[in-house]
Amino acid sequence: MFEGIAASPGIAIGKVYVLEKEDFCILEYRLKEEEVEREVERFKQAVEQSKEELKEIKEKVRKEVGEKEAYIFQAHIYMLEDPLLIDESIKIIKKEKLNAEAALRQIFRNLPKKFGSDQNSFIRERFRDIRDVGERVMRNLLKKPVLTLSHLKEKIIVVAHDLAPSDTASLEKDKVLGFATDIGGRTSHTAIMARSLEIPAVVGLGNITQKVKPGSTVILDGNKGRVIVNPTPMQIERYRRQQERFLIYKKKLEALKSLPAQTLDGREVELAVNIAGPEEIDIALKNGAEGVGLYRTEYLYMNRRTLPSEEEQFKAYKRVAERFAPNSVIIRTLDLGGDKFVSHFPVPEQINPFMGWRAIRLCLERVDIFKTQLRAILRAACFGKVKIMYPMISGVEEVRRANEILFEVEEELREEGIPFNEDVEVGAMMEVPSAAVIADFLAKEVDFFSLGTNDLIQYALAVDRVNEKVAYLYQPLHPTILRLIDNIVKCAHRENIWVGACGEMASDPLYVLILLGLGVDEFSVSPTSLLEIKKVIRGVEWEKLQEIASELLKLKTSYEAKRFAQRKLSRKINRILKGEVVVK
Ligand code: PEP
Ligand code: MG
Repeated sequence: MFEGIAASPGIAIGKVYVLEKEDFCILEYRLKEEEVEREVERFKQAVEQSKEELKEIKEKVRKEVGEKEAYIFQAHIYMLEDPLLIDESIKIIKKEKLNAEAALRQIFRNLPKKFGSDQNSFIRERFRDIRDVGERVMRNLLKKPVLTLSHLKEKIIVVAHDLAPSDTASLEKDKVLGFATDIGGRTSHTAIMARSLEIPAVVGLGNITQKVKPGSTVILDGNKGRVIVNPTPMQIERYRRQQERFLIYKKKLEALKSLPAQTLDGREVELAVNIAGPEEIDIALKNGAEGVGLYRTEYLYMNRRTLPSEEEQFKAYKRVAERFAPNSVIIRTLDLGGDKFVSHFPVPEQINPFMGWRAIRLCLERVDIFKTQLRAILRAACFGKVKIMYPMISGVEEVRRANEILFEVEEELREEGIPFNEDVEVGAMMEVPSAAVIADFLAKEVDFFSLGTNDLIQYALAVDRVNEKVAYLYQPLHPTILRLIDNIVKCAHRENIWVGACGEMASDPLYVLILLGLGVDEFSVSPTSLLEIKKVIRGVEWEKLQEIASELLKLKTSYEAKRFAQRKLSRKINRILKGEVVVK
């Protein structure tokens, strides 16, 4: 049995196909002066051809898998414009008068020194991408065909040292039962791709490629991160049953897709998703999302050299708005700072970045950036039900100032004759304790609240949310948190506005039930937890949850509250998810 990292859930049982990558046999020779230019040209052509191939793969992936996965190949195309790979190779060809293959090989030999040993798994994964791209160019120089998983005759489990994104992209989904690789982590593109394709996968298995023979039978357990080679008939039988249970579980959850998130006694809430960009639309819709409760727009500003233009933002917001229409899409204005930075917009180093120049504070000072975003949002709001939400509001003045700017933007658009939606709801994130305490005042200024519990807990309990040393103090059921939320909900309802929850608390079934009991009206969760959350909501009575919530508010410590909540609800949640409780 091999133990690795569970990269994509599910169980596969089948025959092994070992995907071997052949090594290139490369000749090295010196060029004559007059041959240099032609060699550079040959190299450039191989690069161009590689780009064309990648464009084709990108299109295929975009159509069959999704935007996010297709973007991986756009990144590969960008790599073919990277000086590290291209200019350096050309330099070597010219300076050392070496043939193109040998020059490219030289670059590759030096790459591991730059990236390969890096502790950061993200950087190591990118190194693998560069190598994948380089191999493609090399094949095109050598005029060798590219190995693919596209013509498999039977259903197999692919075992490989590593799978490149281009391998996974070209495979036929119904022929590949699972992946097992020697190397890789949960953030590797193979893992990302496997999850999107819903193919079970285990990565980081050490040397499985050398230990398993092609054609032998294996069991791949993507839930636990295990591969059993040559299993006994009894093991196969046991895993078959598990496999069936898992498939039934998933299928049953899918049946909830179009049903409302409604308790047994009729309390209906809205179940939306958190997204970071248009590329996540498909997976959200697939999981039955009713709308977007939190669109974290800062990701639009990352991994690039300049700020996104109004037009670019407009296009992204419009796409999301259109796809979710008539359901609402809550676009949160830029929340940079804290632990989110972009290189082209340096936020100065601060001793307390989370309490410093961040989110709305930054936008109220850099009105130019804020206005560009507001213009894009207001324009996109013509194409769906868009709402605006301000992050990190700490007092009434900030909402008023932000609304003044919003009003100015509307005036400007009107004068310019640019169509926009005049009727966009505006809300505030409730994530700073000072705002939670004066929720009664704030409720008069906005159309809705959304609980940013990640920050609310960090600020109210003085627990840095990214510091593992104090993680034990990060207690969502601390009496302070419960009281703050209770106050926010009551103040909102008194003013007839609704309250959502979009922090991670809303993606945990136990906390969702407590928030529901406290009166929260909308939940915005991660797409993959949506159906489970819905199932749990549909299996409980709101009246009971309200009783539990009011009992919880009387408890003096987080420990007692957690124990009480677990005693009252955890068993029930497990039984609902296992299907022992009949869910309407
Ligand atoms: C939160 O703080 O709970 C929240 C949803 O926002 P973010 O995690 O982006 O700070
Ligand atoms: Mg926050």
